[in-house]
Amino acid sequence: METMFDIAIVGAGPAGCSAALSLRESGCSVALFERKSFPRVKICGDGLCDRSINTLRDINPRYVDEFFSAYNPESIQHTDLIYKNRRYRIDFKNFGYTCKRENFDNFLFSLVQRDCRNVTIFQNTEIQNVDNRNDEIVLFSGETMFRARIVIVCNGALSRISRILTGEHVEKSKLGVAVRAYYNGVKDLQPDTIELYYKKEFFPGYLWVFPLADGSANVGFGWQVEQDSDAEKNVRSVFEEWLSTDKELSERFRDAERLTPIQGGLVPYCSESYECCGDNFFICGDAANLIDPISGGGIGNAMLSGRFAALQAVQCLQKNDCSKQMTEKYVENLQKRIKKEMHIRHLLQKQFMKHRWLLDVLAFFGRRTAILRRIKAWYLD
Ligand SMILES: Cc1cc2nc3c(=O)[nH]c(=O)nc-3n(C[C@H](O)[C@H](O)[C@H](O)COP(=O)(O)OP(=O)(O)OC[C@H]3O[C@@H](n4cnc5c(N)ncnc54)[C@H](O)[C@@H]3O)c2cc1C
Repeated sequence: METMFDIAIVGAGPAGCSAALSLRESGCSVALFERKSFPRVKICGDGLCDRSINTLRDINPRYVDEFFSAYNPESIQHTDLIYKNRRYRIDFKNFGYTCKRENFDNFLFSLVQRDCRNVTIFQNTEIQNVDNRNDEIVLFSGETMFRARIVIVCNGALSRISRILTGEHVEKSKLGVAVRAYYNGVKDLQPDTIELYYKKEFFPGYLWVFPLADGSANVGFGWQVEQDSDAEKNVRSVFEEWLSTDKELSERFRDAERLTPIQGGLVPYCSESYECCGDNFFICGDAANLIDPISGGGIGNAMLSGRFAALQAVQCLQKNDCSKQMTEKYVENLQKRIKKEMHIRHLLQKQFMKHRWLLDVLAFFGRRTAILRRIKAWYLD
């Protein structure tokens, strides 16, 4: 007989671990499936915005203290926007932090291992298929079957499981590609400042230089690009060319050492419509296309959505009702928190892509503090 769980979580990234941690005292039996084994590398810019830390605090304030003392993440106070060799500085009381994803994700995962006695963890277990029967979900991994009342899908961009459950395909126009590598010895790296370089033809995409606590930098480039088999290769070659031909960047990187290959991943941008739930299931994080279309950040929304889905899953089980009518409350709660900002950012992304000259207008007015404050609000508040 296959094992039966109250809740199955597919994927142990920030969304999946936040869901598991939020179920710690729920009394539910939970299975957490992860196709890799931890610690595992995740291609990312390593920028942790306030929402990530605040969601962790909501789960348990002690976890935030533990995170700071274990990893001493770099605290970010400024963002420099660089366009046509001019720098526009935005100051923050606290934008957030930078921390290698390998460390952050492993930290979240080890909290689940340590604190969630009700969670059975299956590493190296890829869920390949799911069957949504009326009163349960069956999950398939090779020859093995698992059963659960509810599944929370947190398995990242272009999730096949999400596609099977919702029947929806991600539109290619909603996808971006980003690449990154780690560097040592980048000249004039400021430990409390993240830097975003812009060019009109790639706007609102940007090239980033993010400082890390060990003195290295996470450097990358993300852009909404035509999706084909060469998409990642194209983004990588734009990135390399930009680094080597830009006057300021080429000078700063002349003596820098690249520590890792340039690697990339998909960026499923949030748009107006997204199908995140149905009978017996919730979809979270990148699997639900929740990445901010302007900043490209997705960790905060992934964690928030994982937590909200978990809390609603408990309500469903308590009421013995896992119908879409009940699971939809998760979407309502999520929309209350992020719908307005994602709607505005989605519109901005569309307008910026259509009218790239707006970057010149922003740069012109950007010298005035009030406009800079506005830009700050679009990006990060
Ligand atoms: C180059 C790049 C840079 C980025 N930079 C930033 C940044 O600086 N800040 C930021 O906030 N966001 C950034 N993002 C976005 C961010 O990485 C994602 O939004 C975030 O990882 C989403 O978390 P998640 O838990 O939804 O998915 P993921 O982190 O992708 O986790 C999904 C997990 O599911 C597992 N999995 C997949 N399929 C299965 C399966 N079938 N069965 C079992 N397990 C499975 C995977 O192994 C993985 O562990 C960046 C993205 C890219 C590509």
